[in-house]
Amino acid sequence: MDTFDLVVIGAGPGGYVAAIRAAQLGMTVACVEKEKALGGTCLRVGCIPSKALLEASHVYAHNKHGAEKMGVRVTGMELDLPAMLAHKDAVVKANTGGVDGLFLKNKVKRVLGTGRIAAPGKVVVTAADGSVTELGAKNILVATGSVASSIPGIEIDGDVVGTSDQAIDYHEVPRRMVVIGGGVIGLELGSVWSRLGAEVTVVEYLPRLMAGMDEELASAALKIFTAQGIKFRLGCRVQSAKNAGGKGRVVFIDADGTEQTLEAERVLVAVGRKPFTDGLGLQDAGVRVDNRGRVEIDDHFRTNVPGIWAIGDVVRGAMLAHKAEEEGVAAVEIMAGKAGHVNYDAIPNVVYTDPEIASVGRTEEELKAAGIPYKKGSFPFKFNGRARAMNATDGFAKVLAHATTDRILGVHIIGPQAGHLIAEAAVAIDMMASSEDIARTSHAHPTLSEVVKEAALAVEKRAIHQ
Ligand code: NAD
Repeated sequence: MDTFDLVVIGAGPGGYVAAIRAAQLGMTVACVEKEKALGGTCLRVGCIPSKALLEASHVYAHNKHGAEKMGVRVTGMELDLPAMLAHKDAVVKANTGGVDGLFLKNKVKRVLGTGRIAAPGKVVVTAADGSVTELGAKNILVATGSVASSIPGIEIDGDVVGTSDQAIDYHEVPRRMVVIGGGVIGLELGSVWSRLGAEVTVVEYLPRLMAGMDEELASAALKIFTAQGIKFRLGCRVQSAKNAGGKGRVVFIDADGTEQTLEAERVLVAVGRKPFTDGLGLQDAGVRVDNRGRVEIDDHFRTNVPGIWAIGDVVRGAMLAHKAEEEGVAAVEIMAGKAGHVNYDAIPNVVYTDPEIASVGRTEEELKAAGIPYKKGSFPFKFNGRARAMNATDGFAKVLAHATTDRILGVHIIGPQAGHLIAEAAVAIDMMASSEDIARTSHAHPTLSEVVKEAALAVEKRAIHQ
């Protein structure tokens, strides 16, 4: 039996990054992964393929609806969906193959098969052909991620009624598409197929989109996406969804309590994800799991069993690739006797629609609920020269700072490239900066980043261009 300083179970962004960092720190590392392609949900069927489709469908929609306003008339344009899907597959292959290369470079041993913790210090890996390998481990890191969850009454057939796994790979543009859930997956993949010509209806249980995101962003997003042609049914509880003779049929109770039915060629179920721990042997190993199926950990990513650690979607907190990465790095640094740490207040959250929606830190609703006094500065993209040049003026940036200390507590942006712009705010929050720090920092002109500076200036009511 080969023995390693660390055996990581799961090669998603949490697991593979942890494995590489551990190798950098001098540990001998094996990473167990059941899929042939490394990279987990994010690289294979999540973040990366959906971004490839979002970028490609944006080019299509922009040429169809936006370019003419900028003096570019595109004629004879056609959608070549097989080529678009091939582009997506090539992007996935480049990314997953990249992780193979990184494992080789860092001497991380890749073990193909399903890992089970047989006992603390021992992982048993079963390959697809049934062969079994035993690995000894000083430390075991559980990074097994999450899978799409569903709700009672929904019959997922993996075809007409499916999850994001299917919605990144429809081989024709559905005439109608019903999306169950107005969260991040619903909005991103709903946008892709709406841009390509589907009539998309999002059915959401809550009276708003993107629960947990700042409310002002959510209501701006609702207006913008409605103008783009997506239909929203808010405050509606889905009762059932199934493939009824080749068509999707979704039954829901609307906000007035009336039963409604929608039919569509495709139904996307996007009602959240749940931790994936099937067959991992956690119970036998004595690892505690909470009532939502999440592996319980302390502030240092240790489970209750010495030598077994856990990070990412399988533990508490936001299900985000970059949160998992930070946790993976911190966990192995702690194993190596270093001061690994994650600042959860400085983890950005991005929805890659058009415009993008991005947040870091506290929302206004959270500050109000916690009774924290704050000042607010907002600035719209419509007063920004670069946004005008891009013909992308929808949205605004908002900076929330403590009323007395001026420390930045939250930054929320809806607008072009918000996902890139939020990085500055994440650094500012991590460095405990004040709104004045951003306001007094030179931002290149003409860039979209000036919107963030102006929002920071607006905290003290001194925005220049408003
Ligand atoms: P989500 O939690 O973002 O949204 C699910 C939505 O479904 C919620 O708004 C919820 O109210 C609604 N819902 C639940 N039951 C319903 C019912 N019966 N009828 C109608 N609506 C109902 O979940 P998701 O969009 O499935 O995404 C899953 C996870 O993946 C999230 O944790 C997310 O952070 C992550 N993810 C992140 C990104 C990104 O960072 N850009 C992209 C994709 C996925």
